[in-house]
Amino acid sequence: MTQKVRVRFAPSPTGPLHIGGVRTALYNYLFAKQNNGDFILRIEDTDQNRYVEGAEKYIIDALNWCGIPFDEGPEKESGYGPYRQSERKLLYKKYADLLIESGKAYYAFDSAESLDAHRKDHESKGKTFIYNWHNRLKLDNSLSLTPEELQNRLANQQNYVIRFYTPEDEVLHLKDIIRGDIQIDTNILDDKVLYKSDGMPTYHLANIVDDHLMEISHVIRGEEWLPSLALHTQLYDAFGWHAPKFAHLPLIMKPEGKGKLSKRDGEKGGFPIFPLSWGDSVGYKEAGYFPEAVVNFLALLGWNPGTEQELFNLDGLIKTFDLSRVHKSGARFDPEKTKWYNHHYLQEQEDIVLLDSFKPILAEKLDKEQAFDISLFTNVDYITSVISLIKERASFVSDFWELGDYFFQTPNSYSEKVVKKQWKENTPSILNKIALILESLEDFSSPELEKMIKKWIGEEQLTFGQVMAPLRLVMVGDLKGPHLFDIMALVGKEETLNRIRTALAKL
Ligand code: GLU
Repeated sequence: MTQKVRVRFAPSPTGPLHIGGVRTALYNYLFAKQNNGDFILRIEDTDQNRYVEGAEKYIIDALNWCGIPFDEGPEKESGYGPYRQSERKLLYKKYADLLIESGKAYYAFDSAESLDAHRKDHESKGKTFIYNWHNRLKLDNSLSLTPEELQNRLANQQNYVIRFYTPEDEVLHLKDIIRGDIQIDTNILDDKVLYKSDGMPTYHLANIVDDHLMEISHVIRGEEWLPSLALHTQLYDAFGWHAPKFAHLPLIMKPEGKGKLSKRDGEKGGFPIFPLSWGDSVGYKEAGYFPEAVVNFLALLGWNPGTEQELFNLDGLIKTFDLSRVHKSGARFDPEKTKWYNHHYLQEQEDIVLLDSFKPILAEKLDKEQAFDISLFTNVDYITSVISLIKERASFVSDFWELGDYFFQTPNSYSEKVVKKQWKENTPSILNKIALILESLEDFSSPELEKMIKKWIGEEQLTFGQVMAPLRLVMVGDLKGPHLFDIMALVGKEETLNRIRTALAKL
């Protein structure tokens, strides 16, 4: 029977989740879902010094906002929990002891000061101190102590750590789904600490024990954990356990290409680094991104389907994503591209949904003095019609006001550049005549307006530009905006005439 696919996202709650972490979670989620597997959230909080209040909730909120909820995790028990390592604390000692018994690990009593002195001594000779085969017999551990001395120390509750016994002169053959086969000479590895006498396992031991007990089939995680793969593989062997398959994801790189994307890059470039706001840092959600856009751009940071296709919803990603096609090299982050994705997903939203996000912005911008009809600020039909006209040019809901303020207030200034170029001597007389036609119109719909004005332009033997440019200027204050007749129809006859008169008085 093949093993059920079970993957886990295992963050340490040391602060907000960086988008690189969100991408790791996303790839785990996609892989789980395309294999009818389980996506597990495990909180790796063994290092209590680095614990940050609120970080776990943040992680859960972020996954939920992205639409990639976990199947099992804190408060979603499924027989494999608890899912916080701090709540599993008592379980790890047994496994550390097993390794001691089989000679795969040993007790070490070296104080922090003595290790520091060794380090400094090596440095002064231009060498690096590594705790392993070549010096462990000279250090303070159960390999160099007599059995009686060891018993004494343990009986006296002297502080110890348990270190992994890395064999000498062996070549390890490691496998990674993305990177292929990797060979490591054990002589360069140090005897990593697995457990401390304060009763806490280190990341390495807790991670392996939990992946085993939680029946994890695939470990998909960031490249920064690749150096741990040699130890992890050896630990599985030492326990006699079947190891999961590993996939180490490439780093997300700075927009300039070199170096890992950091919080500072976001601050410098004015783009979010976190999915949700954290302290002073604005998140993707609060910056107006749609979760669909974030999921889409993250999926393509480090993977592509091998075709030109760039737009994928979550279902499409579940079908198409292929772990073995994830790139080995770092993926350059492109803030402009994230806006492009958001622009796309904004177009896909229902206008009525966009309205909900636009309402608070509108309320904030509302200037009663400037409004030509105050009731329009709360008129759902009117506002959704405005949104449907302007959204094509918007990447964010927050662009709406800038793109469509003239739907709510009469322009009180006119682009000087446009006035200079388009406001000719005969413009007032043209606009006066247009006003007369408009006044007589019963049907003020966009097609009717277009028909009548075009007909009149033909009869008067004017050019289109002579009429349309100044007319747009008086309606909008500039030469921007959607189809002019749509604007006129929406603001209505009275306001259209008002704008023509206002401009004629001012210009
Ligand atoms: N706790 C580690 C982290 O913070 C987990 C690494 C892993 O997935 O093994 O990323």
